[in-house]
Amino acid sequence: MIFDLHSHTTFSDGALTPRVLVLRAIEKQVEALAITDHDTVDAYQDLGTTGKRLRLVHGVEFSTQWESIGIHVIGLNIDLSSDSIRAGTQFQADARMTRALRIASNLEKMGIPDAFAGAMRFSAGSYIGRPHFAQYLVSTGKVKTIEAAFKKYLGDGKPGDVKQHWAGLSQIIQWIRDANGIPVLAHPLKYKITRSKLKRLLDSFIQAGGQGMEVVSGQQAPHQTAEMARLCELKNLLASCGSDFHSPGSQWGELGAFAPLPGYVTPVWERF
Ligand code: AMP
Ligand code: MN
Ligand code: MN
Ligand code: MN
Repeated sequence: MIFDLHSHTTFSDGALTPRVLVLRAIEKQVEALAITDHDTVDAYQDLGTTGKRLRLVHGVEFSTQWESIGIHVIGLNIDLSSDSIRAGTQFQADARMTRALRIASNLEKMGIPDAFAGAMRFSAGSYIGRPHFAQYLVSTGKVKTIEAAFKKYLGDGKPGDVKQHWAGLSQIIQWIRDANGIPVLAHPLKYKITRSKLKRLLDSFIQAGGQGMEVVSGQQAPHQTAEMARLCELKNLLASCGSDFHSPGSQWGELGAFAPLPGYVTPVWERF
């Protein structure tokens, strides 16, 4: 059975609507899917009966920071109607708005006017994020590609990389636990930190109540999977896997297109 426990829709920065995403997942032989939009669960209200066509695992991807690094934590098997998810997504939506104003003012200083209104034009729901600023920068001709927008203005350490508004690591883990969900550290290989720092991050994550990590995140080398699986076992964590699908044919993974979890780790779905 293929579990894809990390994906995005138009309710955050994905290209497909929730229904089209589910249909594509079925086409790609995914049997259990978690929609994990950034800081919102609104996609689940837009599924209609399509959500019944496969095993749907309710999820969310929360943004936070740890030692000034931007970190993502996935909540899996969460109770969508819980007070904590309602409060958590509301807090993060407010944080996104404050942050967007800050990003716009930083861009203004770099000679880019009207970025807040410009980015908002690309945002559909409560999610306003750097991808929308990137789209705005491309639309004004300031940069040619989304990738270039991140490289020059929005990526790690650039003026548009504003992190300090998010709720803290313990807080988002608490929201997930209070919603009877399982907190999973997303894409541990994407943080550009040393292995010893990653181990420290995992220790902080576990101490705050974290329970799982993504051992497989999209396409990765077999040695990376083996290393993450060993780390997962060492730290006594549950193992998750997912594509982090954003759009067809992009740099992000295709739905269901990733290696299976090694047999010796405990899959997170054993606790669903
Ligand atoms: P935000 O949620 O506003 O912090 O924006 C982060 C999102 O931007 C990530 O979830 C990615 O989907 C996207 N992103 C990050 N880096 C890049 C990049 N270099 N090129 C394209 N998209 C990116
Ligand atoms: Mn994204
Ligand atoms: Mn992420
Ligand atoms: Mn993601």
